[in-house]
Amino acid sequence: MMQFKSLMGIVSVCAALVLSGCNGDNSSNSNNQVQEKPKLQPIVIQGALPVESERMASKLENVSVETIGGWKFWKGTYKGYPMVISKTRMGMSNSAAATAIAIQHYQPIAIINQGTSGGHDPDLKVFDIVLGKYTTNIGAFKTPNKPIGGGSNSLEWNEAFDVLPEDESDPEPIAIRKFEGDKELLVAAYKAKVHYSKGQVVEGTIGSADTWNNELDRINFFHTKYGTSVEEMEAASVAQIAQQFKVPFLGVRILSNNITNNGAYDPATGEACQDYALEVAEQYMKVKAEAK
Ligand code: SAH
Repeated sequence: MMQFKSLMGIVSVCAALVLSGCNGDNSSNSNNQVQEKPKLQPIVIQGALPVESERMASKLENVSVETIGGWKFWKGTYKGYPMVISKTRMGMSNSAAATAIAIQHYQPIAIINQGTSGGHDPDLKVFDIVLGKYTTNIGAFKTPNKPIGGGSNSLEWNEAFDVLPEDESDPEPIAIRKFEGDKELLVAAYKAKVHYSKGQVVEGTIGSADTWNNELDRINFFHTKYGTSVEEMEAASVAQIAQQFKVPFLGVRILSNNITNNGAYDPATGEACQDYALEVAEQYMKVKAEAK
């Protein structure tokens, strides 16, 4: 009996230690006492460029910086929640690699890909934010056959090429693949809306490719055929990798330019989107912490 009692004593001391001390790696934070949070895996927030990532990194506490290959990660806490900010660099390959590394290295609870984008929807203005209900690759197509001298017209590229087909033996997987944004992340993204006053926040489809489209007919083609609200160069690639690892994903993109309505490029949008993404992450982690 005595043995059992002393064993229980040890167990309860351990439990208290776990509750008070195992909150990520922020034990040096004096606010820790009031901000105790249950231990969660970190959420990863990505930005392609310094103007799309460094502001978030500067807001982390207890930061450690890690560079793996050409990709930089800042690991720390934001309002007590564990977070990793990832600078993916631009484009589909860089963002795919940064995503796979982040998943393997940090085992994140979820991934948010955020940053600037160009408008495809004339109703959207610079500083509006699109929450990616869908994210889709607008760079993978099978073109029609044309002879030498037959020219090239991308408006005739009607067959989207699915780079992640279920049937891998299909030699020509023709389908537009739309990656759905995670529902719980979307709910968190809607909650963040109340704090945003620089533009409207809408649900939409984010189109990604290693292309900056400035041809208005082509932009209109994507907007009408695939329902794209904006274009950029990373989100669909991240969604593709996250899906294969079964990690919840959401794209959040601010319009930094919109040539469909003469919306001139504004670099301040990069910072505004980072603030929004941090708010989304906080709302998401709050719910996850309460569920623990
Ligand atoms: N020079 C600008 C934009 C960088 S270029 C800057 O300093 O912010 C491309 C990057 O911006 C990519 O990472 C892409 O995701 C994003 N982007 C913004 N608007 C875009 C557009 N209209 N088309 C494609 N990518 C866009």
